[in-house]
Amino acid sequence: LSCTPYTGRFAPSPSGPLHDGSLVAAMASFLDARAHHGRWLLRMEDIDTPRVVPGADQVILSQLEQLGMQWDGDIIWQSQRLRRYNEIFERLSKQELIYGCACTRQEIASHALQAGLLGEDGERPYAGTCRAGIAAGRSPRAWRLKMPDENYTFTDRWVGTRSQNVAQAVGDMIVKRADGLFAYQLVVVIDDYDQQVTDIVRGQDLLSSTARQHQLARMLHFTPPRMMHVPLVLDPEGRKLSKQNHAQAIDMQHPVKSLQRAWAALGFTAIAADDVGDFWRNAIPVWQQRFSID
Ligand code: GLU
Repeated sequence: LSCTPYTGRFAPSPSGPLHDGSLVAAMASFLDARAHHGRWLLRMEDIDTPRVVPGADQVILSQLEQLGMQWDGDIIWQSQRLRRYNEIFERLSKQELIYGCACTRQEIASHALQAGLLGEDGERPYAGTCRAGIAAGRSPRAWRLKMPDENYTFTDRWVGTRSQNVAQAVGDMIVKRADGLFAYQLVVVIDDYDQQVTDIVRGQDLLSSTARQHQLARMLHFTPPRMMHVPLVLDPEGRKLSKQNHAQAIDMQHPVKSLQRAWAALGFTAIAADDVGDFWRNAIPVWQQRFSID
């Protein structure tokens, strides 16, 4: 029995309204938190300011409320936490774990090719070219974190055991971008620690980011959260539903139907529900049973 109370979170990027795909991630994290009698926090991941759509955060809040998904505590906006991110960035820099990298996209690809490195999902791993310093006359385009060259294994509650050697599969990851913005991979780890998140439930598109996030957490002496990566909703062409693919916003005219669709995407059979409150009352015990939660 753990003494840390269950704390989950939903962390949407306010680059548009929630769609059927983001609802699946929201639903699974909400159900898991409620099934554990835990807290469900909300965090607006607006660190990537060029992708933020003004007002999308308020639309998301209203969608969640209409769907009967009430969050706990205060909402965090990443855009208000730059001082904290900088503090951690400086800490890692002092430990000489961060270095400036001058490589262009093209250079990264050709160095990876030369070194015979092949990443996952067509992503070319970074070969560590600038670890020893950058050539005179060039300036850093990004800041990278030295990743340990070791196998990291974790157990995911949905997909099971996964291993990755981050140094080989990804290389030293970017923590601060050329445009001066802190990278999602850095800030997500800091936020989950600061919000005392014990359990992350999110979409399987982020499964391949987990090893690097846990490795960073360990470098900072943070305990990595437990993980559950739920299936993605695909469009008819088999692509992940996303705002870039112009996914439609959740149908709020029929909130129960929208919930039932997300529920089905998680592999459950339809449950009786007259309204959204009814839906959650009936769904929580099914989730508890499915994942053997007392
Ligand atoms: N903000 C990310 C997204 O909307 C989710 C990040 C996470 O859950 O760790 O895809």
